Amino acid sequence: MDIERDVLEVDVLIVGAGPAGLACAYHLMKKAEVAGGEPPAVLVIEKGSHPGAHSFSGAVMDPSGIARLIPDYIEKGMPFEAKAGADSLWYMSEKSHFKFPFTPPGMGNDGNYIISLNKFTGWLAEQTEATGVEIYPETAAFELIVENGKTVGVQTVDMGLDKEGNPKSNFEPGTIIKASVTVLCEGVHGSLAKQAGEKLGIFDKAINQSYLTGVKEIWEIPDGRMSEGEIIHTFGAPLLSNMYGGGFVYKMSGKMAAVGFAVSLNSPDPTNDPHRWFQEFKMHPSIRPIIEGGEMLHYGAKTIPEGGYHAMPQLYHDNMLILGDSAGFLNSQRLKGIHMAIDSGMMAAETIIDAIGKEDFSKATLAAMQKRFESSPTKQELYKVRNYHQGFEGGILAGMIHFGFQFITGGRGIFDRQEVEPDHAHMRKLAGYFSGGKKPKPPLKFDNKLIYDKLTDVYKSGSKHEEEQPSHLVIADYDICNNRCTEEYGNPCQYFCPAQVYEMVDNEEGGGTHLQLTPSNCVHCKTCDIADPYQIINWVVPEGGGGPNYENC
Ligand code: SF4
Repeated sequence: MDIERDVLEVDVLIVGAGPAGLACAYHLMKKAEVAGGEPPAVLVIEKGSHPGAHSFSGAVMDPSGIARLIPDYIEKGMPFEAKAGADSLWYMSEKSHFKFPFTPPGMGNDGNYIISLNKFTGWLAEQTEATGVEIYPETAAFELIVENGKTVGVQTVDMGLDKEGNPKSNFEPGTIIKASVTVLCEGVHGSLAKQAGEKLGIFDKAINQSYLTGVKEIWEIPDGRMSEGEIIHTFGAPLLSNMYGGGFVYKMSGKMAAVGFAVSLNSPDPTNDPHRWFQEFKMHPSIRPIIEGGEMLHYGAKTIPEGGYHAMPQLYHDNMLILGDSAGFLNSQRLKGIHMAIDSGMMAAETIIDAIGKEDFSKATLAAMQKRFESSPTKQELYKVRNYHQGFEGGILAGMIHFGFQFITGGRGIFDRQEVEPDHAHMRKLAGYFSGGKKPKPPLKFDNKLIYDKLTDVYKSGSKHEEEQPSHLVIADYDICNNRCTEEYGNPCQYFCPAQVYEMVDNEEGGGTHLQLTPSNCVHCKTCDIADPYQIINWVVPEGGGGPNYENC
């Protein structure tokens, strides 16, 4: 269909109103103010219904990033739940736990804040708008426009199409937004970042990214169970010894506590189910007494880019920069990325200001972003843990040994720049994984008091989508799902999706099952795009405004 599209032109287009994108916009305007003259036209677009609607994290924030961006952040009312208080690390056996007498080096939280990332992001958006930046919510970037190897801008998604892709009466064609620089910061495994990999090769020199899926609920817990600001991190049970991940409980303000669990997507188990591991974590005899009798308020899930320094892309190309979680700015040992996302935004802003001064947005000029990063404290922090996640390829015990060597060798460890297979390649077929009498676990019995089924949890995420639109989970070949995958892997999408988007339902005739999607449940975590063993699921943006509506998360 030939469609006439509106074209909008700005100086700087920022895709994603998360901490990285907002920090970039804010710092850019502050720098421009100091330089004097006409401020650049900066536009931030965000697929959520408002800035923060899709922002989701643990989160214990290292305030060093926000302190650099907005030194008077406390006076400006930055929202936080509590100052980090008593901090402990537990090794979980099946029935009990062992509390480490000390916090391992680099993992302390003194001076940090427990925050709700979606509240923090909303506040940062207000600060940013006050500088003159325009933020368009409900605006989802569908395609990265590249002409002659250079990024021109983006096209936003068409609105008002039916499930088959035909225009409805409210059809609105997506807009082409052109910019001198397009900044990609859509969060983990961004759909435009994927396109930038394919069209511009920015990930070609990086090792494969490794991901965890984190699942979290916000609870109101009875008084006296934890002190405000208390932080508990766990590893061990319920996970098996060949798996990487762990749980956390953070006491927020009032009665609220964040309870969550993250598990690596490089598991060999085709029934690896992050939502189930989380329920088992809550049932653990050491966690249950903390939350039992309380009330579950909110739910969400997201993936976490754990690969570290060696898995980062080239941060620049002609007329393009990439930041934040999209570029893997995350310290995998500390599980902290918000301060780094902000730092990456500030480095991008300084690079863009120089480029505006030179009226040159070529990669020769924007390469200054990479130079800034390589000589920054952020790089130093990432470089010290550059091999951390890869050390756990052989399980927790091997990982601890690697970590010990990395600690005494300044991050080098036994292998430097260890190549790893992509997460999905670790998955074993049913016949191989469940051999020798090993059986899949029986289904959990949800009581909806302590452990919740996926649909109840999705309801608590506030996720909504327009039902009458093309599926934003694009399956390249349903035959593979309905036949080959059923036989070989048992349709792992049913397990790894934390929002029950994928179900195998009985065929009406002839026996067997087929894949049925409920895209409206999706919480935009991207697990399916990463973990599908055949790599035939492509997550693309749905209509703007669709997705979770996180609160206190
Ligand atoms: Fe996450 Fe994919 Fe499920 Fe959406 S469909 S919630 S992106 S796994």
